[in-house]
Amino acid sequence: MARLLAPGGSVEMAVGVLEAGAEAVYVGPIGWSRRVSRFELDDEAIREVCTYGAAKDKEIRIAFNTTPASSEVPAMLRKVDQYVEWGARGFIMTDPGAIAAVRRRHPDVSIHASVAATIINEADIAFYRDIGVTVVVVPSKLSFTEVREFKERLGVQLEVFLHSNHCYTYLGKCQMSSYFNHRFAETDEHKQLFLGSPNRGGFCHRVCKGEWTWSEENTLRDESVTMPNIAILGFNSVPAYLDIGVEYLKIQGREFNLSLMVDMVRFYREVIDHCLTSPRPISLSRFQPRLLGLMRRRDEEREDRTQALLQVAVEDAPLPVAGIVD
Ligand code: SF4
Repeated sequence: MARLLAPGGSVEMAVGVLEAGAEAVYVGPIGWSRRVSRFELDDEAIREVCTYGAAKDKEIRIAFNTTPASSEVPAMLRKVDQYVEWGARGFIMTDPGAIAAVRRRHPDVSIHASVAATIINEADIAFYRDIGVTVVVVPSKLSFTEVREFKERLGVQLEVFLHSNHCYTYLGKCQMSSYFNHRFAETDEHKQLFLGSPNRGGFCHRVCKGEWTWSEENTLRDESVTMPNIAILGFNSVPAYLDIGVEYLKIQGREFNLSLMVDMVRFYREVIDHCLTSPRPISLSRFQPRLLGLMRRRDEEREDRTQALLQVAVEDAPLPVAGIVD
């Protein structure tokens, strides 16, 4: 049965999306999950979410999708042990060594290969499966037939994105942000934060969305270059994903407003339930007006957030982070 996996950028958001109909929620410990720390959670908050999840029989996923330095691995594993004890049933991870270490320690937890692992082809999926991953994000360019074949052949659970954004580069491999603004900080637990590098405990400044020009040999060729950053919308694919047997349908957005995320989850809960109970072929036309409203709200919020992140990158503005020491 497919589970709706929703973002928890705060305790309130985690509880709100679970009450709105998500079966699973993901949260990120401060400095470990590719977001501005304001949208990550300290351990007390994670414990609260785990306690709530256990009481309601919901799945809690913890994102450790940065690349840890060797010196950070023991601290990461201590946190993993603690979260498992509190009831977390799985982790979202990127780094192969860290994944293998968590798998050796906790044979029964789920491990999702994060989209930041940049899984592109069948060999990548097989590699991550063999080191202990149980769920992989479906590469976005695959047809439904290919997704079905991958699932049957490779024996992994699948996760698809219903709402997200497609990076101009490969997410997890992009270094552009840290060229612009790369400051160092540390959490009060001594986790290193290379701000400007989401892969190393910071966050992306979304510099690809800034104003770019193209020059060649000191000649201006184009004074307004736009790099694509396309919204992923899996709405129309929900019936096909359910028929294929995809295990997780994910909505991204820890940094969005609570009300938008709750409305988004409520909307997709209805869409999924409609698909599960309707004969084929399914019409989703009655959902279209609400979808357009949600997309408009999402795009407006995302644009505001992008401008704020860009401003930090180019103006060296105060850091939009909390709970850290410079
Ligand atoms: S700079 Fe742009 S392409 Fe690179 S990770 Fe950030 S949003 Fe993605």
